[in-house]
Amino acid sequence: MKEFDFIKNYLFTQPTDSDVLLGIGDDAAIIRPRPGWDLCFSSDMLLKDRHFFGDVCPEDLAHKVLAVNISDMAAMGATPRWVLLSAGLPQLDKNWLTAFCDSMFALAKQFGITLIGGDTTKGDLVFNVTIIGELPSGKALRRDAARIGDDIWVSGRIGLAAAALNHHWRKIQLPDETFALCEKIRLRPTPRVELGKALLSFAHAAQDISDGLAQDMGHILKASGVGAEIHADSVPTLPELRKLLDPSLLYDYIFAGGDDYELLFTAPQACRHAVIEAGNACGTTVTRIGKINDSGRLNILDSNGNTITLTTLGFDHFG
Ligand code: ADP
Ligand code: MG
Repeated sequence: MKEFDFIKNYLFTQPTDSDVLLGIGDDAAIIRPRPGWDLCFSSDMLLKDRHFFGDVCPEDLAHKVLAVNISDMAAMGATPRWVLLSAGLPQLDKNWLTAFCDSMFALAKQFGITLIGGDTTKGDLVFNVTIIGELPSGKALRRDAARIGDDIWVSGRIGLAAAALNHHWRKIQLPDETFALCEKIRLRPTPRVELGKALLSFAHAAQDISDGLAQDMGHILKASGVGAEIHADSVPTLPELRKLLDPSLLYDYIFAGGDDYELLFTAPQACRHAVIEAGNACGTTVTRIGKINDSGRLNILDSNGNTITLTTLGFDHFG
């Protein structure tokens, strides 16, 4: 198969939307923003052996490549609309590409996303997605918007992806069923777009958890010029992990693990009911895990009120 057969037969196959004036096939795509909406851009790159194992199946890989980008839109409260996909592929294998594209377009369709362009080159397996979303003008869940007295919340459960990864690395041995639950989160994270949108009207700061709860919380604290107290045992995780793992190891997975792509956000105390309602409406559990304060630092407390010192500090590519 040649490059243009791939573009024409695999990529240029989907219905487009009325705000796309020009999609795949020209030198560049053209979209027309709707009046009253701001455009919101992000990109995330995934490399073999760094973000995924080389033997991952094309369905799971396609899901993850797109889902992590959708998650960035969720973290802004934005509605994802359009993506550009740049891919380095070692070869153009028909079965592999069919499986990859079917899975990618299934997720895109689920979120109402149109592929409007990209680039394809021969090379080691690598993907970069640029995603464009819409936000009601002037609104966004920004990292610099946390205020003293805000509650800190997370969606879903934290630490599962890290547990699955550590099982792969043979640092722990999870029972089959527990591993399967964790591996599903690692491979197929669910972007919390509906929750992000529901939070827009009352939440303050937000971000998705990709590099570990502690580090990601740190970004909000730094940007907002505030501190926080988090109660480690109120952070929701898989109950089996609490039973199976040594507490300090579990804390590392929860606070420094990352890859769960849940939302971490702050909201005024007066909005507790609204947050829970928003979670219910989206079918996503939301849990209050701490409070924003004026300490200027992040303090993680155990059930006795003692400060927990983490042995690792979240993911840093150059760390
Ligand atoms: P150019 O030479 O101008 O960069 P290309 O030949 O690379 O154009 O691409 C032709 C068209 O196919 C463009 O519209 C481009 O956006 C689209 N395209 C190429 N690769 C991809 C891809 N991986 N995903 C989506 N669209 C792609
Ligand atoms: Mg090109």
